[in-house]
Amino acid sequence: MENTWDTLSEKLKDAYQGAEKHLKGDLVKLASLPHIFSFLKDIDSEGLLLLLDQARKIKKRKNPKLPPINADFYDIQGLLTEDERQLLGKVRTFMLAEVAPIANEYWGKAEFPFQIIDGLKKLNICGLSFDKSVGGQGRYYLLEGMIGEEIARTDTSICTFWGVHCGLAMTSIDLCGDDAQRQKFLPSMISLEKIGAFGLTEPDVGSAASMGLKTSCKRNGDTWTINGQKKWIGNATFADYIIIWAKDEDDHQVKGFIVDRQTPGLTTEKIEHKLSLRTVQNALITLKDCKVKEERRLQKANSFKDTALVLRKTRVGVAWQAVGCAKGAYENTLAYTMKREQFGRPIAGFQMTQDMLAQMLSLLTAMQCMVSRLSQLQDLGKLSDEQASLAKIFCTVSCRQITSMSRELMGGNGILLTHNVGRFLADAEALYSYEGTKQINSLVVGRAITGMSAFT
Ligand SMILES: Cc1cc2nc3c(=O)[nH]c(=O)nc-3n(C[C@H](O)[C@H](O)[C@H](O)COP(=O)(O)OP(=O)(O)OC[C@H]3O[C@@H](n4cnc5c(N)ncnc54)[C@H](O)[C@@H]3O)c2cc1C
Repeated sequence: MENTWDTLSEKLKDAYQGAEKHLKGDLVKLASLPHIFSFLKDIDSEGLLLLLDQARKIKKRKNPKLPPINADFYDIQGLLTEDERQLLGKVRTFMLAEVAPIANEYWGKAEFPFQIIDGLKKLNICGLSFDKSVGGQGRYYLLEGMIGEEIARTDTSICTFWGVHCGLAMTSIDLCGDDAQRQKFLPSMISLEKIGAFGLTEPDVGSAASMGLKTSCKRNGDTWTINGQKKWIGNATFADYIIIWAKDEDDHQVKGFIVDRQTPGLTTEKIEHKLSLRTVQNALITLKDCKVKEERRLQKANSFKDTALVLRKTRVGVAWQAVGCAKGAYENTLAYTMKREQFGRPIAGFQMTQDMLAQMLSLLTAMQCMVSRLSQLQDLGKLSDEQASLAKIFCTVSCRQITSMSRELMGGNGILLTHNVGRFLADAEALYSYEGTKQINSLVVGRAITGMSAFT
């Protein structure tokens, strides 16, 4: 026999068709049995075993038992309490019901879906880790990190909106404001009645913000005058309060201000044609002789070191965000490969596909373990700048790798918005660069492990 399996299956087909010629309808399968049995009489036990083996394989391929998709392979959510898991579940339900159906549409048109803010208010997820005295919930950073991951898993832009508001803006007031400022501004921001933005980066000053901002502030009596520009500022087109960081003309130190968006002299211009996080409304802000009262100056922000305290905390948030973005891409891709058939079988069944899926899952799991431990350290009050930077590097680099492999595994469909993965791939680019690029965070880690600063 040239090919045993081909010969056997041909003979079996002939036997079945022979039976079909004489019989019709539902009886065919049953009535053809004698003919099939007569064929089986002629084959030896080796041939019969081969036949059964092949039939079993074909059946298995055609009706594979698909396991549920599990992107929490090491049960990281098991670190949470039942009550915390319930809150996470509520966020998941909200994101799937209210955001997933519109995520691609709003990303495509680069608009923010303001209609979801009411739902976010009801979830009560702003200020989770903030003190109860300012309207926060005094919860663990670990939970807050996982909430960020959960939001980004569906839509990384919405997570950025949440991260800029609760992370950058609210944390600036929490860490750098005095008690009166914390009491005055945080409660309405926690309830999302007021939205915040954070303006540090400038058109000519990005990574080197610590070396000198061009935006200036000058005090005269109890009024400050601010001049300059801020670039890339998320939420700034509609935020109520924008934290503006500026260099004092007198003592040359960086100071922070809670500035009303409506302040005369402050204008915002939406940055168009972005290729990443398109739903986030980033703006170029121009401040021309903006007058801000001393009571709006963050009383505990005396130099860039205080700004860096804010970034230490929010870099942890970006690392969690990268986990969510990568998780969303991995889940979408795994589901796709189990459905998509080529060469008569799901592409998930090919060895090379499984190799890539395993690589993606191992990176994702490493990211999850890293950020969980990081947030535990944060909860213990032991988080350092270099620990936050290391996680920001690893998670955003890995997110880029995972989203890129996702795109590859989905072939041409990987670049279509309708399959979500193209959006995650593009969004990973902004995560990689904001809140300190890979190089800048590597310099923070490098300085800590070598004792030598290589910034300049
Ligand atoms: C979508 C998006 C949202 C953002 N939102 C905000 C926001 O809300 N508020 C805000 O203040 N900012 C925001 N940013 C700004 C962001 O933080 C900056 O883009 C980032 O810090 C990098 O600055 P830059 O883009 O000016 O790049 P540059 O500083 O010009 O860097 C360009 C390249 O040079 C490298 N480089 C610079 N210095 C060194 C060095 N010493 N050694 C080696 N390499 C170096 C960098 O790593 C990078 O690869 C946002 C940015 C984006 C893209």
